[in-house]
Amino acid sequence: MHMVVLGAGLLGVTSAHYLRQLGHDVTVVDRQAVPAAETSFANGGQVSVSHAEPWANPGAPWKVLKWLAKEDAPLLFRLRADARQWAWVLRFLRECTPGRTRHNIAQIVRLGTYSRQALQALRSELGLAYEQRTQGILHFYTNEREFAAAEAPAAQMRALGCDRRVVSADEAVRIEPALAHIRPQLAGATYTAEDESGDANRFARALARHAEAAGVRFLMNHTVTALREAGGRIDHVEATDAEGRFLRLRGDAYVLAMGSFSPLLARPLGLRLPIYPAKGYSVTMPVKDPARAHQVSLTDDEYKLVFSRLGDRLRIAGTAELNGYDRDLNQRRCEAIVRRVEALFPGAGDTSQAQFWTGLRPATPGNLPLIGRSRLPNLLLNTGHGTLGWTHACGSGLSLARIASGLTPEVEFDFCGV
Ligand SMILES: Cc1cc2nc3c(=O)[nH]c(=O)nc-3n(C[C@H](O)[C@H](O)[C@H](O)COP(=O)(O)OP(=O)(O)OC[C@H]3O[C@@H](n4cnc5c(N)ncnc54)[C@H](O)[C@@H]3O)c2cc1C
Repeated sequence: MHMVVLGAGLLGVTSAHYLRQLGHDVTVVDRQAVPAAETSFANGGQVSVSHAEPWANPGAPWKVLKWLAKEDAPLLFRLRADARQWAWVLRFLRECTPGRTRHNIAQIVRLGTYSRQALQALRSELGLAYEQRTQGILHFYTNEREFAAAEAPAAQMRALGCDRRVVSADEAVRIEPALAHIRPQLAGATYTAEDESGDANRFARALARHAEAAGVRFLMNHTVTALREAGGRIDHVEATDAEGRFLRLRGDAYVLAMGSFSPLLARPLGLRLPIYPAKGYSVTMPVKDPARAHQVSLTDDEYKLVFSRLGDRLRIAGTAELNGYDRDLNQRRCEAIVRRVEALFPGAGDTSQAQFWTGLRPATPGNLPLIGRSRLPNLLLNTGHGTLGWTHACGSGLSLARIASGLTPEVEFDFCGV
């Protein structure tokens, strides 16, 4: 089959790779000049099966209310006159019950575990290098109550096969000695030794080069303007090239992998995808003092920040702002992140060379991605990966390619239309 993949972010690139491996002709279309130039550009770098507790959980409504309109809040809802945003918020609240949270955690852990294995297999098969580290993820707590509350979800994850161990503050410092500076504030941590980290952007671009060498065609600098339906199927896609020339693209089937922009293209077809952009920030800076810099990938529970060591760079990412498609940098948020980095690891990074970035996570209310068939038989979805698009990229791409090829996916997950 000729498959047209719309979007060359992490999800489009992994879909294209696995589709090609299963014998399809593949064309990837993207408006940027190079793959992974939007949300997959500078994320937190964590391949974190252990990060399976969605934003929507029983404690979330109270926290969100507390954070409303607090400029440097980790999760900020800026409510606007936008029906799509209100519909998303209502669905988010419905996902906050204990039952839905347990269900969503189970789905996220299963897909994450499968995806991490797929990533490891791909890495050794193709010899991919992307500043990966396999030293696990340490999630640390500076608040006793939050630490105590971490036990139940960690136990649920262990029961699902993700070995997220609860460890004391002293053990946390043994795992990551750079935390010694804040030992007095540490309440404890959880540690998942099998989790990993790495530069998602380098990974995606390296995989895209392999895919191209294997015959995948990349149509970059092409903006998709519409998906056209005829007789209950997608007939063609309309796009404009870099010079603004109009063109039609035809394939046997299409994969929608445009991240936060997927619902905008799906809407005219009558498909209401529950995806809303959640703006996040990242800061990247060179390591200044290696003795003070962290090696293990970390999650700071209080500030909802993740830390990855990408070679000789530190990457810190987090915060979420539901405020439409605006990607502006809010100076207060940037400063809050740098202040926290300096408080935790003083002198570790060169803050004078900090590079700031924002990206729009394609968030679904329960943090479950949409993977599989849509109502239109030749339109497949691989989108809505929210906070975990890097963690879930390989497992989602492989499952999508299997579904498109009429094969059963290898992992138990709520796939669409399967
Ligand atoms: C601050 C931050 C930190 C994060 N940290 C982590 C982490 O530590 N671990 C983790 O697992 N995940 C993390 N994520 C999430 C992860 O980065 C995303 O889920 C993932 O990048 C989404 O990939 P995607 O392919 O769906 O979207 P994108 O990367 O946005 O790709 C979509 C592509 O579609 C193209 N496109 C859009 N519209 C059009 C159009 N009309 N025509 C043509 N092309 C179009 C875009 O150019 C883009 O290349 C983080 C995200 C953010 C913002």
